[in-house]
Amino acid sequence: MRLSQYYIPTLRETPSDAEVISHKLMLRAGMIKKAAAGIYSYLPLGLRVIKKVENIVRKYMNEAGAIETLMPAVVPAELWKESGRWFVYGKELLRIKDRHDREFCFGPTHEEVITDIVRNDIKSYKQLPINLYQIQTKFRDEIRPRFGLMRGREFIMKDAYSFDVDNDGAEISYNKMKEAYCKIFEACGLEYRMVDADSGAIGGSFSHEFMVLADTGEDFVISCDNCSYSANIEKAVVVDIPIENNEQFAEIEKKYTPKQKTVEDVANFLNLPSSKIVKTMILKVDEEIVAVMVRGDHELNLPKVKNFLSGSTIEFAGKDDIEHVSNGPIGYSGPIGLKCKIYADNAIKYLKNYVVGGNEKDLHLLNVNHDRDFKVDEFGDFRNATPGDICPECHKGKFQITKGIEVGHIFKLGTKYSDSMNCVFLDKDGKPKPMVMGCYGIGIGRTAAASIEQNHDEKGIIWPVQLAPFEIVVVPVNTNDDEVIKTADNIYSSLLNKGVDACIDDRNERAGVKFNDADLIGYPLRINVGKKTLAEGCVEIYIRKTGELIKVKAEEACDKASEILEELKIK
Ligand code: ATP
Ligand code: MG
Repeated sequence: MRLSQYYIPTLRETPSDAEVISHKLMLRAGMIKKAAAGIYSYLPLGLRVIKKVENIVRKYMNEAGAIETLMPAVVPAELWKESGRWFVYGKELLRIKDRHDREFCFGPTHEEVITDIVRNDIKSYKQLPINLYQIQTKFRDEIRPRFGLMRGREFIMKDAYSFDVDNDGAEISYNKMKEAYCKIFEACGLEYRMVDADSGAIGGSFSHEFMVLADTGEDFVISCDNCSYSANIEKAVVVDIPIENNEQFAEIEKKYTPKQKTVEDVANFLNLPSSKIVKTMILKVDEEIVAVMVRGDHELNLPKVKNFLSGSTIEFAGKDDIEHVSNGPIGYSGPIGLKCKIYADNAIKYLKNYVVGGNEKDLHLLNVNHDRDFKVDEFGDFRNATPGDICPECHKGKFQITKGIEVGHIFKLGTKYSDSMNCVFLDKDGKPKPMVMGCYGIGIGRTAAASIEQNHDEKGIIWPVQLAPFEIVVVPVNTNDDEVIKTADNIYSSLLNKGVDACIDDRNERAGVKFNDADLIGYPLRINVGKKTLAEGCVEIYIRKTGELIKVKAEEACDKASEILEELKIK
């Protein structure tokens, strides 16, 4: 590509609404352009990166036996009504009507469409297993689209769906995808972790998330410092470890705590550590109102409560429900006298003489003890894991927390969709059975953005060779010198002949501008062809990642540069 004839609208200033580095750099490097909140155009350079990610994904999906297909982005509502999701998906689903007032949605994911395809075409166990995938634009009306391609509303996803005759088969399909995903993220040059995203079950778990480690990640990854246990914070199991407590029981005391709202306020006011304050939260699980207690220094984990109670929805109870069960105002709930079931996190078992809400404005109760003052219906693991918690798998190591960006998710669906949408096959015994499904997603744009989060410096992006929009930029430094132009052109053509994805910055710009742009855009290698070095028959190869500058004979530049590229790919 000749950059004089290309389109790279780089920006000097960072647009003010960009918060994370990948978003800033993608805008500045002229890779994307915002059309509306969470909706972007991929400009030529950005599209090149997207295509590289797609091709890596495609390669390993194909290698794992998955077959590429392409489904419609606009999906008739009937399919979503059949699965039932039309009624529960909420506002993230963009619902639209055609000129005949027929309902559609813009697909946020495609289980319904694929199930409809397969149920009509596949009749016999002989046609299974099958895994179909697509790389397609999705739409999710995210409540807070942000960070550019990282959390868009319109975004490109690779989604795959496997269909098997039974659970064993589905597990084989699942494991194939797990392996393929590891290869994909390795090939993208990302530092990632595969984390257990299943609801706490250890071993034989069938939901994993692939997390790219980065400070700007919105997810927390828990990992053991001793073994390979890794889980997402919502799922990391907190082991119930007894803590010896020899305190004597003390008398309950009423304490007025005006204007003290948060745990921290109350702890400071009473001059106690926040671990002595217990929060009582009133929740609505399906239709039931329950109270859940966690220590003040711990965080409530809603999915754990939901799973414990086998609920399908969970939310904080509203003002009316709280007032009804506690006879008190919102914000001051405590366990004594509550008219609902009480669940408490395991850590509370070992606590004595703690502080709880008094179910009255500005009132807290001191020296409260379960069993003596109120009854806990059940104890369980209801809190988020914290650094230092003991690993549930090896029981030796401790948890550490890192931030991560979820780039991929694999999930065993079972027969959820085949049951609701009647996707059956005739088994060997001649009986109709539901197919056992799995689904597997990768965010293509998010993967590209995650790579930038991991690979950048103050000058710009440092692309791994595999994802770079161009692998090498050849820069004729003095554009008014024929020899320089000729040599640069020669090197550029030999690189192309060798199959290197090269470009030449033949714009009539000062060398400084070209160098700055090259650093910003992040080509892994830059070959400088300048009058001075050419006088000795030499050019320079600049390695973006290390900052090394290597002088080579002009005629050797092509070979040497491709050699370095290969080395960079491995590192
Ligand atoms: P998140 O928790 O980040 O919203 P999700 O659990 O909703 O993700 P999935 O439904 O599993 O995501 O989608 C598969 C993949 O699609 C994700 O792993 C992610 O890489 C990508 N993805 C999901 N939502 C977005 C988005 N709003 N913008 C860009 N990529 C996304
Ligand atoms: Mg989401």
